[in-house]
Amino acid sequence: MAKDEHTGVSEKEAMEVAEASRETAWTHPSFLRELFLGNFRLDLVHPFPMAPSEEEDRPEFRAFYEAFKEFLRQELDSVEIDTTGEYPESLVDGLRKLGAFGMKIPKEYGGLGFTAVEYQKVMHLVGSCDGNISALLSAHQSIGVPQPVKLFGSKELKQKYLPRCAAGEISAFALTEAQVGSDPARLLTSVERTPDGDYLLNGEKLWCTNGTLAKLLVVMARHAENKAISAFVVETEWPGVTIEHRCHFMGLRALANAVISFKDVVVPAGNLIGKEGRGLKIALTTLNDGRLSIPNGSVGTAKAALEICRKWSAERVQWGKPIGKHEAIAHKLADMAAYTFAMESVVGFATQMADRGDVDIRLEAAAAKEWNTFRTWQIVDEAMQIRGGRGYETETSLAARGEQPIGIERMMRDYRINKIFEGSSEIMHLFMAREAVDKHLEVAGALIDPRKKLAEKLAELPSIAGFYATWYPTRWLGWGRFPRYREMGAFAGHLRFVERNSRKLAREVFHGMVAYGPKLQNKQGFLFRLVDITMELFAMATSAARAHAMAGHRHPDADKAAELADLFCRMARRRIRGLFRDLWSNDDVRKYKVAQNVLAGRHAWLEHGIMGLGVTAKALEPPTPFRERGERAPVARPFATH
Ligand SMILES: Cc1cc2nc3c(=O)[nH]c(=O)nc-3n(C[C@H](O)[C@H](O)[C@H](O)COP(=O)(O)OP(=O)(O)OC[C@H]3O[C@@H](n4cnc5c(N)ncnc54)[C@H](O)[C@@H]3O)c2cc1C
Repeated sequence: MAKDEHTGVSEKEAMEVAEASRETAWTHPSFLRELFLGNFRLDLVHPFPMAPSEEEDRPEFRAFYEAFKEFLRQELDSVEIDTTGEYPESLVDGLRKLGAFGMKIPKEYGGLGFTAVEYQKVMHLVGSCDGNISALLSAHQSIGVPQPVKLFGSKELKQKYLPRCAAGEISAFALTEAQVGSDPARLLTSVERTPDGDYLLNGEKLWCTNGTLAKLLVVMARHAENKAISAFVVETEWPGVTIEHRCHFMGLRALANAVISFKDVVVPAGNLIGKEGRGLKIALTTLNDGRLSIPNGSVGTAKAALEICRKWSAERVQWGKPIGKHEAIAHKLADMAAYTFAMESVVGFATQMADRGDVDIRLEAAAAKEWNTFRTWQIVDEAMQIRGGRGYETETSLAARGEQPIGIERMMRDYRINKIFEGSSEIMHLFMAREAVDKHLEVAGALIDPRKKLAEKLAELPSIAGFYATWYPTRWLGWGRFPRYREMGAFAGHLRFVERNSRKLAREVFHGMVAYGPKLQNKQGFLFRLVDITMELFAMATSAARAHAMAGHRHPDADKAAELADLFCRMARRRIRGLFRDLWSNDDVRKYKVAQNVLAGRHAWLEHGIMGLGVTAKALEPPTPFRERGERAPVARPFATH
């Protein structure tokens, strides 16, 4: 099997590391896991857990929220942050004074002790106005030091660091390296024990958000002796820690993002988070609810785009009527409203569940991150289209011409990264796909394991046959027709569709395993469609259950919610039917073949007539860490001529 030149890591070893860091136990129910198995557990989403209204909020939280909102109104100048590429010190100080760096930290450690629902209400608000502030707060407390220390740290570690984090010492999360993007098996940063029992840390981390401001880091490093990965709290002021470079991006211009090197840094033994070798599991578990900040912030972004488009489409007249009355734009507005309602339902459900503790949300959080970022990016793109030329113009330029400074172009630049960091779209799909086949691997894995001998496979047959003899027929025989779910009123039909199609989903997962055997893990086209179907079914179920609950609570907007939920479900049903059809009728094999020809240069002829990169593919390989080479990376020559 081919090994990577830098790290000597094969595909098999990469998979083994991913498998080893997977949480394997399912001690609590999960709506999505059940859906993969063909069990539509309506009882897990209905009655839908409604977020508290403003009046129902805890007074302490409401007071913070109002003060925070007022602070943003008075102090936040997003255009200035974007233009200067810096967070004003006064703004960061103001956030500290409000306690915004300790929202998720328990009160006993000096934090505000907010629930997940409360914290995410704040992230939703910030997501509606400023991506830079979202990233600052979220990198600190969704993935930075507070979360893993709160969940896995020793009592001493909590006492040592949580009060500092709550007081506003900024923290960051350092996993990525030049060779480690989505694949942690390539991790090179190393630790070894010192004779005193401490750890000696060496290596370099890339793209560490908050890195240039941070006093504290969570660092993932590999034990030199056994290659296991552990997580440590590291202070940036310790000898040997160096900020090598501040990275700059398309958007999030103020992001304090750094390349950080570690040269013989002595890390006290007590700064290990959790147990040795559990680093990746800790990172993944941290992300279970840490990951909810992005989809909650996304709902804020989508709502901001919707407001802009609603007002602009009513006001802007072209060809004799407001653009919102032209069908093409009207359809975009309807999509935006329906998707925004569905996104809020999906992430609202997952966030409420994060506070409960008796349900497993690892899949729901991943689905919320993936589905909401995909939809929000579409919404931002459509908002740019609806605003036309003004969408592409900067806020400063609009203001200088006397128009309202509406920053769709900044929104677009700032938003795009959400489909890449904290688990890229592809990795989120893979993560969910792995769980889709989990039960089948557990029951029938031996049958498709190429390492097992025929005799071993035959020995497994009776127990496999025993499971599928009842499971498979019941995936056909469930009842997903009238009058089931009658109590759900206007939504019963949509929920029956979810029920029928969750069984179909489970059948298709099984058929995929039978048809492709061990090769299924490489059939990403097939697996990703299954995941897309699952996310659509999840969004349908949560949207319908939420709209139904709003009616039950006599919410003043219940009838409007019902209209949006109904439209969303109708659109989702069409997409789901298409996705099922495409599972078995597609161009996947041909496309893969063409892609391999593209990779091999067979279609390089098509690139004729352009200026070109002027470098070979080999030159795109990330360089070895700056520190080791003792030099800076070369400045790219854009579009060099051949
Ligand atoms: C602005 C910014 C902030 C960041 N902040 C942090 C931070 O605070 N801490 C931190 O540790 N990291 C951070 N990152 C890193 C970020 O999490 C990574 O960029 C992300 O994990 C993807 O890694 P990569 O960019 O190296 O892409 P790669 O892993 O090289 O992937 C390239 C492409 O291939 C796809 N791909 C990879 N593997 C597979 C596969 N098996 N199947 C199908 N497709 C695949 C990816 O989805 C992607 O589309 C940040 C990055 C940026 C740009």
